[in-house]
Amino acid sequence: MNHVKGKFIRLFFILVILSTLIIPGCSSRSSEAVPPKDRANEEIINQEPINMVNEDIKTEEPIVEPVQIETIDQIADPPVENNAQGLSQTLKPSIPILYYHSIDYEEGNELRVSPEEFETHMEFLSQNGYESITLNDLYQYFYEGKVLPEKTFVLTFDDGYEDNYAHAFPIAEKYGYSGTIFMVTGWIGGTEYLKEEQLLEMSRAGWQIESHTIAHPYLNSLSKEQIKEELLTSKKILEEMLSEPKIAFAYPYGVYDSLIIELCRETGYKMGLTTDRGWAGPEDSFRIKRVYCYAQMGLDEFKRRVENANY
Ligand SMILES: [Zn+2]
Repeated sequence: MNHVKGKFIRLFFILVILSTLIIPGCSSRSSEAVPPKDRANEEIINQEPINMVNEDIKTEEPIVEPVQIETIDQIADPPVENNAQGLSQTLKPSIPILYYHSIDYEEGNELRVSPEEFETHMEFLSQNGYESITLNDLYQYFYEGKVLPEKTFVLTFDDGYEDNYAHAFPIAEKYGYSGTIFMVTGWIGGTEYLKEEQLLEMSRAGWQIESHTIAHPYLNSLSKEQIKEELLTSKKILEEMLSEPKIAFAYPYGVYDSLIIELCRETGYKMGLTTDRGWAGPEDSFRIKRVYCYAQMGLDEFKRRVENANY
């Protein structure tokens, strides 16, 4: 019996010794996961706070510098009649001149901006404190010392679509804005184009009607005499109809060259409006840039063009 008892006692001690060896092994296996200290370090590494900040900076819109007032030394070709006055003062900051064509519905034609989209543009300008000025105001501001409100823009429409009267006119009026129609005089009263009485009504409401030739030709494909005819006759027709002098001309298809500019001056215009991208500055009154507004441009893009002179 003693022998059997002694065997059990030995077995018991063996089991106790074995258990002290095995249990720490199991526990070490279960704690193969990273100890708390290491885990904390890992979290910090995964956060990569510096990279995240850098990424934020990269995705930001490039910062556009405010409009610089240029000095007289930078004038390329100042309007001849204003040389004396221009030399005594620095040039005025530029102003956005928006240009549209038709305000109506036509899917896939970016020249037709829907009335709803046009209204979002006017609403944005109104909510952000913009006031519209006419081209006469702009000319007087650039060259004759006229003082303007802080935030201004000029609204223009090319070609003279009838929907400018039906849609653009009432929407602009709702926000207290007026614009300029660059009318192709040979198209007055034609299908889809403005009628004389509509032009007169808009003019009485403070809108400006200016020339965009008689027949909308590529002026650089015409002879000198033909260009003169387009410039002079369209100007006379509008002056007789509206009983006021016409000062501005918009180049059809945005086409102009030094001869066309010379003939504009010669026929009595004071300003030539291009379709070149940018805000209007006083550097050259016959190369005035405009801001293109097109269908489905989106309010963000509209805002970008209206708020940044170097968009
Ligand atoms: Zn045109």
